[in-house]
Amino acid sequence: MKLPIYMDYNATTPVDPRVLEEMLPYFKDRFGNAASRNHAFGWQAEEAVEKAREQVASAIGATSKEIIWTSGATESNNIAIKGVANMYRDKGNHIITNVIEHKAVIDPCKYLEQNGFRVTFLPVDKYGMVHAEQVREAMTDQTILVTIMHGNNEVGTINPIGEIGKLCKEREVLFHVDACQTFAKQPIDVEQMGIDLLSCSGHKIYGPKGVGALYVRRKKPRVRCEPVVHGGGHERGMRSGTLNVPGIVGMGKAAELCVQNQSHEIENVTRLRNRLKDGLFNRLPEIYLNGHPTQRIPNNLNISFLYVEGESLMMGFSDIAVSSGSACTSASLEPSYVLKALGLGDDLAHSSIRFSIGRFTTEQEIDYAIERVCVAVEKLREMSPLYEMAQEGIDLSTVQWAAH
Ligand SMILES: *Cc1c(COP(=O)(O)O)cnc(C)c1O
Repeated sequence: MKLPIYMDYNATTPVDPRVLEEMLPYFKDRFGNAASRNHAFGWQAEEAVEKAREQVASAIGATSKEIIWTSGATESNNIAIKGVANMYRDKGNHIITNVIEHKAVIDPCKYLEQNGFRVTFLPVDKYGMVHAEQVREAMTDQTILVTIMHGNNEVGTINPIGEIGKLCKEREVLFHVDACQTFAKQPIDVEQMGIDLLSCSGHKIYGPKGVGALYVRRKKPRVRCEPVVHGGGHERGMRSGTLNVPGIVGMGKAAELCVQNQSHEIENVTRLRNRLKDGLFNRLPEIYLNGHPTQRIPNNLNISFLYVEGESLMMGFSDIAVSSGSACTSASLEPSYVLKALGLGDDLAHSSIRFSIGRFTTEQEIDYAIERVCVAVEKLREMSPLYEMAQEGIDLSTVQWAAH
């Protein structure tokens, strides 16, 4: 077993060697510009881009003409949200989203709010789920777009996208889904689920960073987006700029590999995730699962270790790469906005760790992680006066702390 161990697959994934292999020629002999229409170098590049478009489209039941290449899901989300808002502003000025979207959705929505649009940020339930009924109640005759993520990147909860999509179809409101965490890894069908726009990213599916795609429905209805980047009219005018051919080839291959092995990978990752979960819960008292108990992406395990501060805990097992919901990921002392929105108090939010595993995680790594995490938690709790008081049966919420 090689150290350090990577358990941060929700942040990014390593490039699969088969993906890299597929990409390499497009850095070397096949370096052409896919927009060069009059020679073999260009044709070769274009052919590769079109093949990748098919690969990405078929992962979601779309057609290749409905796939727009971007620099990643952040850009895809920006085109979808700002592009639809600007294209349809004569129809209405209201957008519906929720409070625990990725910042790549929240921030474009906030930008629009400052530019004449009205945005409803729906709350989520204690599991981090948005319900179709909430979306229905928020809709007005001004609503032009609903944007709700599929799998949450922090707590793993999967939203009822099919139900929300059905509602949007009934009300003829466009529906965008940020599917970074589920694209090609979970079954998605844009027809069955009533999705009009869908964002995905290469580096969450064992492909390269800096490439992503946006699905834009072409029929029933034909969706149009104002471009965010102008210049040359590539990608049906929605995203200009020379295409990242090696990246696109890699994303296509990565999507294909995920889809080919989808059910097997879901099974494998679920088994390993459960092993990690059981190992921790069987040994440690006062730990809590964040996110939905069953409706969740299989590779994510977000746990609060009460009486232990997340950042200190991470330092206790520095040979395992995870991420924490406590402060130091940002400059502020605020714990994760996602965990707060689920209703977690500061104590639980500050003590949370996200473990996210994937294709290259082994059972041996899981067992090593269980041991390391348990020892680190036990050690920190041993030193914690709060934990000692709680063990003695003192209700910490009733304690009168001396003024600072
Ligand atoms: C990673 C991620 C993004 C951002 O994708 P990039 O390709 O890195 O820009 C957006 N949304 C979700 C849910 C993500 O997990």
